[in-house]
Amino acid sequence: MTGRLIIFISYPIFSESNEYLGMIAGTIYLKEPNAFKTLLGEHYSKDGSYVYVVDSDGRVIYHQDPSRINDVVTKNKVVQAVTSGKDGAQLVENTKGVKMLAGYSAVASTGWGVVAQKPLDVALAPSFDRVQEVIIKSVPLMIVSIIIVLWAAARIANPLQQLASLTEESLDKKNVEGLKSVSGWYFEAYSLKNALVRSLSFLHGQVSFFKDQSTVDPLTGITNRRTMDSMLAEWLANKIPHAIILLDLDHFKSVNDTYGHAIGDKVLQFLARQMESVAREGDVCCRYGGEEFVMLLPNTTAQEATLVAEQLRKALADTISPCGRPITLSAGIAVYPAMANTTEALIEAADDALYLAKQEGRNQVKVAVSKKD
Ligand code: GH3
Ligand code: MG
Ligand code: MG
Repeated sequence: MTGRLIIFISYPIFSESNEYLGMIAGTIYLKEPNAFKTLLGEHYSKDGSYVYVVDSDGRVIYHQDPSRINDVVTKNKVVQAVTSGKDGAQLVENTKGVKMLAGYSAVASTGWGVVAQKPLDVALAPSFDRVQEVIIKSVPLMIVSIIIVLWAAARIANPLQQLASLTEESLDKKNVEGLKSVSGWYFEAYSLKNALVRSLSFLHGQVSFFKDQSTVDPLTGITNRRTMDSMLAEWLANKIPHAIILLDLDHFKSVNDTYGHAIGDKVLQFLARQMESVAREGDVCCRYGGEEFVMLLPNTTAQEATLVAEQLRKALADTISPCGRPITLSAGIAVYPAMANTTEALIEAADDALYLAKQEGRNQVKVAVSKKD
């Protein structure tokens, strides 16, 4: 009647015998200082947060802005939720288009709903500050951590890198001395280093063993036929003058027949030692096959080769061999390029001279005649 908006609340009172006695009633003047203001007004803050209350019809019965009182806001999602008795929180946009975080709670006894809203920016501002603070505080630590990690990674990688390059170097140098000096300061690098040293030592050992095997005659320990051929080919290709002494034991068959094959072998070994003892620096002693041997004498004339061959012949003829008596040899000498232009022709010439030495009674040295056209 006075035009002042009120909410009139009444509650009936009954006696124990259920007789209506009257009622207790109270009014809330909505646009004047009231219980809402006393309870909720304190929540008012300057950051744009506010609280409002709606009745069960979605009518605003309390708002910090008095002009909003009595508005019906049934379109508001939060109001819809709270008037249907739900509690909760959600992101909403208010009538001014500002994004707000709303928390709401229904009052069961009256069907009213209380909604507290805070602008999203204001609600999230502390978290932005927190994130910023965390970043500022953690960046120096991160930089220090990265430096430590890089340093540690370099320390860990260093022995591995050294092992890799020294393994290759070890293959060139054919030894593992460089690898042994790597400091394997942590267990895995230490184990890897030891494994590499062991396996490469084994590998180098095997390689040099097989290399020896492939170049050396197993019975006498002197250069084998294959290596002799490749040396002669190399000297020919480089036009290195050289002489060869082709020699064959005299009546060796009878040594075998008389003393046995094993003694025959010892005689062959004995001959090889005698050849080595007359060989000069650079001369190569080879087993050509069976009981035929060759000495390769680089940069040597026929006269010089004859001296070497004679020295060997005499030494053999004057020394007791493993068969209990001296044995003799016959030898043929040929010289490149004086007598032949090819290795085949050179050997053929020496063979002819050897044949002549046998023909003329054995235990002698003959120099070939030229095989050149
Ligand atoms: P000549 O003076 O004419 O050379 O007579 P010779 O008995 O040496 O003749 P020949 O070349 O026919 O005999 C070579 C012998 O050498 C025949 C073979 O049994 C023997 N012989 C070849 N290789 C070996 C070997 O590795 N060990 C032994 N014990 N004997 C071998
Ligand atoms: Mg022979
Ligand atoms: Mg012979």
